[in-house]
Amino acid sequence: MNNNRLSIRTYGLIKAWFLVILLMTLVFTQFSISSVLLQLDLFERMSATGLGQLSSYWPAIGLVTFVCFCVCCLVWLLYRPFNLLWLKLKNLPLFSRVLYSRFMPRSPALQGRLAGLPDDHLWIKRLASRVARKLGVASPTIAIDSSVEINAKVSPDFFHPSLIILTQGLLDKLTPDEIEAVIAHELAHVKMQDTLSMSIIHLLMLFIIWLPVYVFHIVIDYGFLFKWRDKRIGFLLGLTLVVAAYALLPLLVFNAINRRHEFRADKLAVRFSNIQSFFSALKTVQTSQSQQVNPLEQVLSVLPEIFQRFIKRLFLSHPSVSSRLEALH
Ligand SMILES: [Zn+2]
Repeated sequence: MNNNRLSIRTYGLIKAWFLVILLMTLVFTQFSISSVLLQLDLFERMSATGLGQLSSYWPAIGLVTFVCFCVCCLVWLLYRPFNLLWLKLKNLPLFSRVLYSRFMPRSPALQGRLAGLPDDHLWIKRLASRVARKLGVASPTIAIDSSVEINAKVSPDFFHPSLIILTQGLLDKLTPDEIEAVIAHELAHVKMQDTLSMSIIHLLMLFIIWLPVYVFHIVIDYGFLFKWRDKRIGFLLGLTLVVAAYALLPLLVFNAINRRHEFRADKLAVRFSNIQSFFSALKTVQTSQSQQVNPLEQVLSVLPEIFQRFIKRLFLSHPSVSSRLEALH
């Protein structure tokens, strides 16, 4: 176990370092492209203010990188404690009565109990360790959310072992074999490093957001607003347009990638758990989903089929249970 934790921390440090270097490279590239394209002479202006020495002074760049690295580590270090704290708050009777009772029914079995694993659920911990060994990942920490809906989620193993949060609804409605299959699915995400690849994609998307701004800037300023070119109206217009579009574009991309991750995690999970249990767990989820009123589906049902499909692609991070079942057959 200690060995496991040590290797998770080592890998965590490497991942944080890798992301920071990627981020810094992107920032500096953007900085120089902006300077050239907008003729801002940013570097020169910064030298005038004394900040310029920073960009030409390598130890200072090293220091900035190191500070970013520390921030990255701190975020990853605190991610899980914050997650657990939030869960504890959510499971408090007062909190759930005030904020959640109307929107998210709580399971009476766990009302008032703090998050974490009660003694009668230790078997889940053992089950999860067994699945983790089969998949070749470190044993996860398990916490219970008192919600009655059927849900499970995992946060990655950046500095701590991964954390799997299972809802009380899931524990009430699934059999131990089905719970094992669900845990296998969640650990498959850990095994495939889905969160890391999403972080990299996020950074790259931040990078490419500027390309359309530059294109707009050149087209508008040089094509249409020649005499106001110095005012950089095109740049501002381009920025406004792209920022407006940016709210939607990543949603499309991330959800599309996320849905692929789900299919891959399903495929991996059935290799390490009982396939029949996996199917029946998915079917139970499907039945419970069909009983709930989904506000999005209600709004969508009045729209033409083609819009429905588009909006679902945009907003749904998970594929439908039927398509997941189909993909596994
Ligand atoms: Zn998943």
